[in-house]
Amino acid sequence: MRLICSLLLLAWSLAAEQADWIWTARYVVTMDAQRRVIENGAVAIRGDRILAAGPRAEIERNYQARRRLDAPVSLIAPGLINTHTHVPMSLFRGIADDLRLEEWLEKHIFPAEAKNVNAEFVRWGTRLGCLEMALSGTTTFADMYYFEDVVAEAAKEAGLRAVVGETILKFPSPDAKTPAEALAFNERLIQRFRGDPLIVPAVAPHALYTNEDATLKAARTLANRYGVPLMVHVSETSVELDNAVQERGASPVVLLDRLGIFNGRSIAAHAVWMDDGDLEILRDRGVGIAHCPSSNMKLASGVAEVKKMLAMGLAVGLGTDGPAGSNNDFDMFEEMDLAAKLQKVISRDPRALPAPQAFEMATILGARVLGLEGEIGSLEAGKRADLITVRLDAPHAVPLYNVYSQLVYALKGSDVEHVMVNGRLIVRSRRMLTLNAPQVLAAAEKYKQQIQAGGLSR
Ligand SMILES: [Zn+2]
Repeated sequence: MRLICSLLLLAWSLAAEQADWIWTARYVVTMDAQRRVIENGAVAIRGDRILAAGPRAEIERNYQARRRLDAPVSLIAPGLINTHTHVPMSLFRGIADDLRLEEWLEKHIFPAEAKNVNAEFVRWGTRLGCLEMALSGTTTFADMYYFEDVVAEAAKEAGLRAVVGETILKFPSPDAKTPAEALAFNERLIQRFRGDPLIVPAVAPHALYTNEDATLKAARTLANRYGVPLMVHVSETSVELDNAVQERGASPVVLLDRLGIFNGRSIAAHAVWMDDGDLEILRDRGVGIAHCPSSNMKLASGVAEVKKMLAMGLAVGLGTDGPAGSNNDFDMFEEMDLAAKLQKVISRDPRALPAPQAFEMATILGARVLGLEGEIGSLEAGKRADLITVRLDAPHAVPLYNVYSQLVYALKGSDVEHVMVNGRLIVRSRRMLTLNAPQVLAAAEKYKQQIQAGGLSR
């Protein structure tokens, strides 16, 4: 009998494929094409890739792993994808709230940035943001700010995946006196991070109204020369739309399209003030939309027509924007919840943007927005190993009838327990393994004192 057992074990170990990790959980929410939710499921991982996601018994039969992570009171989900951020602004969190966008930007943020933003500020702000994002289940973020080379370095150090685009403006910025300098900076950024396993460089002209047409065209040319995406704010407020129509006779989408800005992979942040013609242009050009519900609500920008965009087949992801003033945090669980509820309020239809669709926006659709749907956004063989576990035993998580309802309407960023990005475990039992959290928090407090001593008005 013992011999038979030994022989069976030997046969299994010869047949089973070697994996680096097996993760098991009460549920695996795959977000694959069939949208499989596997009860008592598992994921096998080797190197930076997922080998398989399936029923636990099947995974255990087919793979043997050197390391295990068993999460019987949790679900495993794809890491969340934040399609629009300005991460280093975490050090300005709450510096000036409850103001109009123009006043907030011109009287508070631009002066504060002029006085304070340098490479070290960006490094510590990004570390703080990465700490917050990882601990709340975000594994990929798309960022546009200054010193984006340092954002990329800090993201890599933290182990997060990032799309990084240098902000290009027609006025001087903290790291470029002219748009030409910003474009040159952006080109060096692309050359340095092209092909990086975690970083996708991008080009990020701030918006139509903050750039000359020639700069916008040069930004597109640069993006296409290297085959990288272009990120831009589009029609965030009614003021932006009205000014474009009055001064130039067309909407920002039409004007940008005439300049050829969408001829190549593009990510449009906000897209709040759009008519059907604008949406058709964005759809026809394959532009991904970064919908930022918290920001649009907090700055009273308006409500993007997400339900219509999704029905038209546009890729719409979620973004936190901010975090200074326009949000003020990076919690993607909050964005899912708000995105769903905002569409219901505006359409006065509780069926609008149901929970499964909101979760798609935070995962596989977000990946499509960034052009990374072949690599991330779902748990399936061959994709990058970007996954999170979320505990299901808090009072607000019990009982559980439907995992999507729980994920979107009940669970919180603080329920995230373990996080892996590109096959590397970066959060274990809510502890960030890649950053010194107390040191990052202390640095943020020190920056606050410095910023306040600089005479910043509130
Ligand atoms: Zn923004």
